[in-house]
Amino acid sequence: MLTTTTTEAGLGARLYSVADWYDAEALLTTEERRVLGRLRDFLDTEAKPLLAEYWERGEFPEQIARPLIDLDLMEPADLTVEAPARGIYHGFRIFELARTDASLATWYTAQAGLFRTAIRVGASEEQQKEWMPKVIDFSLKGVFSLTEPDHGSDIAGGLSTTARFENDSDGGAGPDGGSWVLDGAKRWIGGASTADVLCVFARDVADGQVKAFLVDRTAAGVSLEKIHGKTSLRMMQNAHITLNNVRVTEGMRLHNVNSFKDVAAMLRAMRSDVAWIATGIQAGAFEAALSYVKERQQFGRSLGSFQLVQEKLARMLGNITASLSLVVRLTEQQGWGIYRDQDSALAKMQTSLMMRETVALAREVVGGNGITLAADVARFHADAEAVYSYEGTHEINALIIGRALTGASAFTS
Ligand SMILES: Cc1cc2nc3c(=O)[nH]c(=O)nc-3n(C[C@H](O)[C@H](O)[C@H](O)COP(=O)(O)OP(=O)(O)OC[C@H]3O[C@@H](n4cnc5c(N)ncnc54)[C@H](O)[C@@H]3O)c2cc1C
Repeated sequence: MLTTTTTEAGLGARLYSVADWYDAEALLTTEERRVLGRLRDFLDTEAKPLLAEYWERGEFPEQIARPLIDLDLMEPADLTVEAPARGIYHGFRIFELARTDASLATWYTAQAGLFRTAIRVGASEEQQKEWMPKVIDFSLKGVFSLTEPDHGSDIAGGLSTTARFENDSDGGAGPDGGSWVLDGAKRWIGGASTADVLCVFARDVADGQVKAFLVDRTAAGVSLEKIHGKTSLRMMQNAHITLNNVRVTEGMRLHNVNSFKDVAAMLRAMRSDVAWIATGIQAGAFEAALSYVKERQQFGRSLGSFQLVQEKLARMLGNITASLSLVVRLTEQQGWGIYRDQDSALAKMQTSLMMRETVALAREVVGGNGITLAADVARFHADAEAVYSYEGTHEINALIIGRALTGASAFTS
């Protein structure tokens, strides 16, 4: 066993005895570790047995969605009485999910990261009061609908979904006397098919600024199409969304989103979550590979006893340790209120680069079995590619860092 199971009885032991080489989990409180232990037990018993089959089918195992929500991981009661849930706990929660499966981590953070951040940053105080409790208990499920078919990396300047305010025909004027009309399309939106609302970013034709709207998934004019044929994150469902003359009331507009600057503030928080996912994926692939090379015999000895294999194990561990150190420090900084584009861009870019190397090495040391779902590294290897590209590609994050370093923006528009 690589990791110690953390049932209530075994809390003295470490959660991550190998992958967390420098013991970052020491930063967690006993209560936080207890909640993560509950999550570990659930993932090991309920989720893991389903992963290979559902990955191959390209479906999400909906039967674990409700029990996972019922674990109450976003703001667990254990943590809210005297010590609120802290960034480091949120990070390790993502790490634990991604260490089991990247789709599970992406599915959970679509609500707990993307949608929650959209509400936290974009909603007015009054709107937050109404919506946030429902976001936390998943009774209002939402997704982040930013990317468009023709605009991915250049979304800031290129976003072309439109929002037009129309006054009521009875002559009512102003925000309460009419509604918004949205037209356009969104692509890649994770979890849209099971969401209650789509948080849609659209450009107001009146002032040219980007605004955000909570659109009922079943509203007239909204159509969703599943993106088929994915070779990465197959369990996670992504949608192509078309918006045709969709009406939204002013009350469902996020009142604190008045330009793309407000969207960028959301992305800062979300990119650090993805860096935690990239770190967790590495841990999952590494642990599976290590277990395999200790068992598998060639030339009369275990694979793990060969020098060349050990060098690969050491590189994987180095990558994971560097990634964890990065995300832990970034999360600490954010806990002090320091949020800068270049900081989360650096963490997302660097952990993703290391993730790509780690999962490739893990796949390599498992040999031919490394491309089958049974050995438990192929899933991580394939899923890493989507994580590498979403929430800002390598190049876009590098350009954000380059701009901070030189003062010169290399974006072409
Ligand atoms: C599985 C998955 C889930 C996703 N979930 C969501 C979601 O829930 N919500 C959402 O809004 N979006 C989501 N996305 C979209 C994601 O954020 C975009 O895929 C990403 O921003 C890249 O955009 P693109 O795919 O259009 O690539 P493009 O922008 O077309 O880029 C293609 C390539 O060109 C490079 N490139 C582009 N511009 C430059 C430049 N100026 N200099 C150098 N290189 C450049 C890019 O780095 C990339 O390598 C998801 C994507 C995936 C794959």
